[in-house]
Amino acid sequence: MSVFSARDFDNHQQVVFGCDPASGLRCIVAIHNTVRGPALGGCRMWNYDSDGEALADVLRLSRSMTYKSAVAGLPFGGGKAVIIGDPRTAKSEALLRAFGRFLNTLGGRYITAEDVGTTVNDMDIVRQETAYARGLPNGSGNPSPATAFGVFMAIRAAVEHRTGDDDLSGLGVAVQGLGNVGYRLCGYLAEAGARLIVADIRDQAVEQAVRDFDARAVSPEAIFEVEADVFSPCALGAVIDDDTIVRLHATIVAGGANNQLAEPRHGDELHRRGILYAPDYVANAGGVIDVASEGPGYCEKKVLERVEGIGATLKRIFARAEREHLPPCVIADRIAEEHLVPPPGPVDIAA
Ligand code: NAD
Repeated sequence: MSVFSARDFDNHQQVVFGCDPASGLRCIVAIHNTVRGPALGGCRMWNYDSDGEALADVLRLSRSMTYKSAVAGLPFGGGKAVIIGDPRTAKSEALLRAFGRFLNTLGGRYITAEDVGTTVNDMDIVRQETAYARGLPNGSGNPSPATAFGVFMAIRAAVEHRTGDDDLSGLGVAVQGLGNVGYRLCGYLAEAGARLIVADIRDQAVEQAVRDFDARAVSPEAIFEVEADVFSPCALGAVIDDDTIVRLHATIVAGGANNQLAEPRHGDELHRRGILYAPDYVANAGGVIDVASEGPGYCEKKVLERVEGIGATLKRIFARAEREHLPPCVIADRIAEEHLVPPPGPVDIAA
């Protein structure tokens, strides 16, 4: 397994491997860029098929965090951690504590938080060993509500760009994944009068969405090709690929999942087909805005006001994309790269 020649290596500043045989911890921390501040990004625990798969995931996710924080104007860089193992069976207090001690060796260059496979309570345990953990139960807590709200704003911005009106009533939205983000998103969408089509591999979540939101359930395979105005990926990454793009009926793709495009060229292909894509790391920045705001001045209302701004950011991206005849994902990358300079002076992100 090579790092420097890995497909997803993007001049990451630091990639470190951690091991604690006593607790079974095997983790990788990737620090992509710290120009704007310490690298902030969640810790994913997943039963990867191989170490190479874990490395690819952490490299991609950490790069996204750099771009996400830069576009959101946060004084943080991009990083991510992955713990290799099944969170249902391999997670223990000893492992989480060992992970916390491992973070201390990085001296604060990377700050962790919860992600898929880890929870707010897990971060509480990590925090007992290190100061470099956020998203705590007595802090900003679970970032998913802020993420879901931001994705809702993203969908409204995309609909407004398309139709000139952000009214969602009667519009069909296909939501893939009814977890922490997807389920809450459905709540906002239902309240706004959208017609929901949903899929999840967990039957219970689907049944609940049918009951709570009068949603129509389809199989995980069928969700790509349902008649809908918006396709909202809120499950896994890399769902937009050669196979699925041709099956989409939706003219907007806007969701919460990280790394939705299997490859960057799929952003070009969506654009070529006239499908408006809300770049994932812009649409799902609500969570990092929330976690970044943790601290003595934390105020949920202010966080949500800031998350609401995701809509305005996206509208600017869509408008510039149209002016420059480029896909929105290319424009978002450019804006992020234009912001990869240290923020001017101390920034009160909770302000
Ligand atoms: P989650 O694990 O709570 O939910 C994911 C859901 O997707 C689960 O219900 C799962 O059963 C379902 N799923 C898995 N495979 C599926 C498939 N093939 N078809 C349909 N459903 C499937 O995760 P989450 O916290 O809701 O996050 C969802 C996505 O959003 C992830 O990609 C995550 O990285 C990203 N994200 C989350 C946050 C956050 O604040 N939670 C922030 C930014 C990005």
